[in-house]
Amino acid sequence: MDSQPGFPVDAEEEFRSRFRSAPLTFLALDYDGTLAPFHADPMQARPLEGVVGILGELKRLPKLTLAIVSGRPVKEVVQLLGIRDIPVVGAHGFERLMPDGTLRTREPDAVQKEGLEKARQAALEEGWGDRLEIKVASVAFHTRGIPSAKAAAMEKRMRTRWTTLASPHDLECRPFNGGVEIRASGWHKGEALGELLKELPEEALCVYIGDDDTDEDAFKALGDRGMGIKVGDVGETTAAKAFLRDCQAVREFLRTVLRAFSAAGNGPAGARDGRRKGKERS
Ligand SMILES: [Mg+2]
Repeated sequence: MDSQPGFPVDAEEEFRSRFRSAPLTFLALDYDGTLAPFHADPMQARPLEGVVGILGELKRLPKLTLAIVSGRPVKEVVQLLGIRDIPVVGAHGFERLMPDGTLRTREPDAVQKEGLEKARQAALEEGWGDRLEIKVASVAFHTRGIPSAKAAAMEKRMRTRWTTLASPHDLECRPFNGGVEIRASGWHKGEALGELLKELPEEALCVYIGDDDTDEDAFKALGDRGMGIKVGDVGETTAAKAFLRDCQAVREFLRTVLRAFSAAGNGPAGARDGRRKGKERS
């Protein structure tokens, strides 16, 4: 058992108060580095033990709505989580798994596609094709598993080449935790979250949890409708209002949310003790 705090530091009382009073809570979660620890092989980045069970109980709460917002393709998130009926926004918002199970995809335009192909070619010229991930509106270059100094040099080299391609092709080059990505401009996690927020009642309490540079767009999109929580060390520069240290702390936070709802009589049927159930499941 870990000893992580159940609420983000600096915000425990605020969270307790707002969870109690909100008629509806919307909880949006990043995947990598938030629900799942990083792994050199991205498809081995499994949810932390217990997380899937907790999400399964959270999604049954009548006063809580869940969503996953990831840079990964929707298909990967669904495969790794093994839960099909939680809304998933993927590829930084270029994909969205709709409630009826259909996948809605936004296509980059012709100029952006041309730029992405050039980005792919540039990585191939460096001999790094095996480190590329081709997504619907981006190309990601992964360096996880490479010694940090070498990884930093490779990322710098790739970023230099991709930055020259970005502007003429309406693309943007952004670092992420474990690499660099070049992607179509005009749609990001903030835009994607904003779209989800429009579908919620004004009075809903909205919480977004993420660990990465790309999650900053989502923190900003929340505005005064809720709170962003950064997964990382207290003091990091962020638009979020609170911190959780790591995936373990996120899991404990989710357990605490489940307990708070259950204690208030709003828990899922048959889930009077969310903590015990969450630990038994994986
Ligand atoms: Mg992440």
